[in-house]
Amino acid sequence: MKDVVIIGGGPGGLTAGIYAVRSGLDVVLYERGALGGSVLNAEKVENYPGFPGGISGVELIGRMEEHARQVGLSVEYNEVHEVTPNNGCFLLRTRDGEVLTRTVVIATGTGPRPLGVEGEERLRGRGVSYCAVCDGAFFRDQPVAVVGGGDAAVEEAHYLARFASKVYLVHPRESIRRLRLNRKRIEENPKIEVIPNTEVTGIKGDKAVEGLVLKNRETGQTWDLQVKGMFVYVGIKPNSYLVEKLVDLDDRGFIITDERMRTSWPGIFAAGDVRRTPLRQIATAVADGAVAAIWAEKHIATLAC
Ligand SMILES: Cc1cc2nc3c(=O)[nH]c(=O)nc-3n(C[C@H](O)[C@H](O)[C@H](O)COP(=O)(O)OP(=O)(O)OC[C@H]3O[C@@H](n4cnc5c(N)ncnc54)[C@H](O)[C@@H]3O)c2cc1C
Repeated sequence: MKDVVIIGGGPGGLTAGIYAVRSGLDVVLYERGALGGSVLNAEKVENYPGFPGGISGVELIGRMEEHARQVGLSVEYNEVHEVTPNNGCFLLRTRDGEVLTRTVVIATGTGPRPLGVEGEERLRGRGVSYCAVCDGAFFRDQPVAVVGGGDAAVEEAHYLARFASKVYLVHPRESIRRLRLNRKRIEENPKIEVIPNTEVTGIKGDKAVEGLVLKNRETGQTWDLQVKGMFVYVGIKPNSYLVEKLVDLDDRGFIITDERMRTSWPGIFAAGDVRRTPLRQIATAVADGAVAAIWAEKHIATLAC
């Protein structure tokens, strides 16, 4: 029986691990992919204290991992498939077997929200991407489209312009004037063309993206745009599926916690981007992880299991 199982190896999970181990608890952290979560997509982090001038997401997470391992955190590359209450404790079904634990910290972060158009699922990884930093270099000297209306879309269009021959920013609104960040850089970048007031209604191609079907939201006119890649930035969705039937979620599926990171189910804690929070950043995920671990320890002291 573990004291704490932490699900997710981003900044929230790693920090929960450091605090829980240092509290003398028996802890394991499960990560289904690469340690680091969303931070791995951050080319440069310029707002996390302690790194004047900034640090790459990969390097920052490398340091967090080193720190966690140095204090003795056990990290396993494993995916959790199910969390089931078990006499006041929990039984977790993972890819590699089952584990019993007194508490669970859900630090599973968020994933990209899909656009929801025909062809998107089929061509995912074959030209459809949700991460410019991960996949941008595959599109050297080729035309690509970025789809989305927020600052993230604008930022990624700018990043992709380093590699691509042309970047079309397919924007749902009339202009990008209302955007806060990077607007000027976009307007001054000759490789970027904003296609305003437009939505994607389909993706062309069988084995790889060959183009997009676009539709003007005002006139209804449709046309084809020839691109080799489509980068989607239409928002995020929380990875709360493991506990969606156990704990209270908000209307977008984010886990609701109190200020001690307790969910509505005693013994289940949530930390970082997966919870309802006014700010999703590394600094806030780290803070949540620390709080969750400390209150997990207090909860364990009350248990009979
Ligand atoms: C492109 C980009 C740039 C960013 N830049 C910045 C920045 O400059 N500054 C800043 O402060 N923030 C930045 N952020 C936000 C920051 O990355 C997040 O706020 C932070 O990573 C949240 O940490 P987390 O631990 O909650 O979740 P995540 O970092 O998302 O980690 C969650 C982890 O859980 C794992 N997981 C999910 N489900 C399971 C499961 N069932 N079993 C096992 N493991 C599972 C995932 O694989 C993932 O590794 C950026 C985000 C992006 C996408």
